[in-house]
Amino acid sequence: MSSILESQLEERLGAEVSQQRQAFLQAVQALDSELARQLTLLSPDEWADQGALYAWPQLQPYIKQLKKVDAALCQQQLGLYGLCSDCEVELSRELLFQDPCRQRCSLCHSKFLNSQPASWKL
Ligand SMILES: [Zn+2]
Repeated sequence: MSSILESQLEERLGAEVSQQRQAFLQAVQALDSELARQLTLLSPDEWADQGALYAWPQLQPYIKQLKKVDAALCQQQLGLYGLCSDCEVELSRELLFQDPCRQRCSLCHSKFLNSQPASWKL
Protein backbone atom coordinates (compact mmCIF):
# COMPACT_ATOMS: atom_id res chain seq x y z
CA MET A 1 0.00 0.00 0.00
CA SER A 2 1.49 3.38 -0.90
CA SER A 3 1.90 5.91 1.87
CA ILE A 4 -0.21 8.48 0.01
CA LEU A 5 -3.17 6.10 -0.08
CA GLU A 6 -2.50 5.19 3.52
CA SER A 7 -2.69 8.80 4.69
CA GLN A 8 -5.78 9.50 2.56
CA LEU A 9 -7.51 6.55 4.17
CA GLU A 10 -6.38 7.66 7.60
CA GLU A 11 -7.88 11.06 6.93
CA ARG A 12 -11.07 9.47 5.66
CA LEU A 13 -11.32 7.30 8.78
CA GLY A 14 -10.60 10.28 11.03
CA ALA A 15 -13.38 12.28 9.36
CA GLU A 16 -15.80 9.38 9.73
CA VAL A 17 -14.92 9.01 13.42
CA SER A 18 -15.54 12.67 14.25
CA GLN A 19 -18.73 12.72 12.16
CA GLN A 20 -20.17 9.66 13.91
CA ARG A 21 -19.20 10.94 17.35
CA GLN A 22 -20.73 14.32 16.70
CA ALA A 23 -23.97 12.80 15.38
CA PHE A 24 -24.12 10.59 18.45
CA LEU A 25 -23.55 13.45 20.87
CA GLN A 26 -26.23 15.55 19.16
CA ALA A 27 -28.70 12.68 19.41
CA VAL A 28 -27.98 12.31 23.14
CA GLN A 29 -28.18 16.06 23.63
CA ALA A 30 -31.69 16.08 22.12
CA LEU A 31 -32.84 13.40 24.59
CA ASP A 32 -30.94 14.16 27.77
CA SER A 33 -28.66 17.18 27.90
CA GLU A 34 -27.24 16.24 31.32
CA LEU A 35 -26.18 12.85 29.99
CA ALA A 36 -24.62 14.54 26.95
CA ARG A 37 -22.68 16.82 29.27
CA GLN A 38 -21.38 13.85 31.25
CA LEU A 39 -20.30 12.13 28.03
CA THR A 40 -18.21 15.10 26.97
CA LEU A 41 -16.20 14.64 30.18
CA LEU A 42 -15.30 11.09 29.15
CA SER A 43 -13.00 9.84 26.46
CA PRO A 44 -15.13 9.07 23.36
CA ASP A 45 -14.01 5.44 23.33
CA GLU A 46 -15.79 5.03 26.71
CA TRP A 47 -19.12 6.36 25.44
CA ALA A 48 -20.54 3.06 24.25
CA ASP A 49 -19.96 1.57 27.73
CA GLN A 50 -22.30 3.99 29.48
CA GLY A 51 -25.25 1.97 30.76
CA ALA A 52 -27.55 5.02 30.86
CA LEU A 53 -27.51 5.14 27.04
CA TYR A 54 -29.28 1.82 26.75
CA ALA A 55 -32.46 3.30 28.22
CA TRP A 56 -32.99 5.02 24.85
CA PRO A 57 -33.91 2.63 22.02
CA GLN A 58 -33.57 5.47 19.51
CA LEU A 59 -29.87 5.78 20.39
CA GLN A 60 -29.05 2.18 19.54
CA PRO A 61 -28.23 2.81 15.85
CA TYR A 62 -25.82 5.57 16.93
CA ILE A 63 -24.19 3.31 19.51
CA LYS A 64 -23.76 0.66 16.84
CA GLN A 65 -21.93 3.21 14.65
CA LEU A 66 -19.81 4.30 17.61
CA LYS A 67 -18.74 0.72 18.20
CA LYS A 68 -17.87 0.38 14.54
CA VAL A 69 -15.61 3.43 14.55
CA ASP A 70 -14.02 2.32 17.85
CA ALA A 71 -13.30 -1.09 16.33
CA ALA A 72 -11.76 0.49 13.22
CA LEU A 73 -9.56 2.78 15.35
CA CYS A 74 -8.46 -0.17 17.44
CA GLN A 75 -7.56 -2.15 14.31
CA GLN A 76 -5.61 0.83 13.06
CA GLN A 77 -3.58 0.90 16.29
CA LEU A 78 -2.88 -2.81 15.94
CA GLY A 79 -1.86 -2.42 12.30
CA LEU A 80 -4.80 -4.56 11.17
CA TYR A 81 -6.84 -1.79 9.60
CA GLY A 82 -8.25 -2.64 6.20
CA LEU A 83 -8.13 -6.40 6.71
CA CYS A 84 -11.25 -8.53 6.68
CA SER A 85 -11.98 -9.52 10.28
CA ASP A 86 -12.99 -13.03 9.19
CA CYS A 87 -10.60 -14.13 6.43
CA GLU A 88 -7.94 -11.37 6.76
CA VAL A 89 -7.91 -10.59 3.06
CA GLU A 90 -6.99 -6.95 2.32
CA LEU A 91 -10.13 -4.90 1.65
CA SER A 92 -10.18 -2.83 -1.53
CA ARG A 93 -9.51 0.90 -1.29
CA GLU A 94 -12.93 1.57 -2.89
CA LEU A 95 -14.71 -0.33 -0.13
CA LEU A 96 -12.77 1.45 2.57
CA PHE A 97 -13.35 4.88 1.12
CA GLN A 98 -17.05 4.12 0.89
CA ASP A 99 -17.18 2.80 4.44
CA PRO A 100 -13.96 3.43 6.40
CA CYS A 101 -15.25 1.26 9.26
CA ARG A 102 -15.87 -1.73 7.03
CA GLN A 103 -15.01 -4.95 8.87
CA ARG A 104 -15.43 -7.64 6.23
CA CYS A 105 -14.73 -8.35 2.56
CA SER A 106 -17.79 -8.71 0.32
CA LEU A 107 -17.77 -12.48 0.55
CA CYS A 108 -17.57 -12.64 4.35
CA HIS A 109 -20.02 -9.76 4.62
CA SER A 110 -22.74 -11.69 2.80
CA LYS A 111 -21.94 -14.84 4.80
CA PHE A 112 -22.21 -12.75 7.95
CA LEU A 113 -25.57 -11.29 6.92
CA ASN A 114 -26.89 -14.73 6.06
CA SER A 115 -25.88 -16.05 9.47
CA GLN A 116 -27.90 -13.34 11.26
CA PRO A 117 -31.62 -13.59 12.00
CA ALA A 118 -33.54 -11.49 9.44
CA SER A 119 -34.51 -8.92 12.07
CA TRP A 120 -30.85 -8.07 12.70
CA LYS A 121 -30.10 -7.08 9.14
CA LEU A 122 -29.26 -3.48 8.41
ZN1 LIG B 1 -13.31 -11.97 4.25
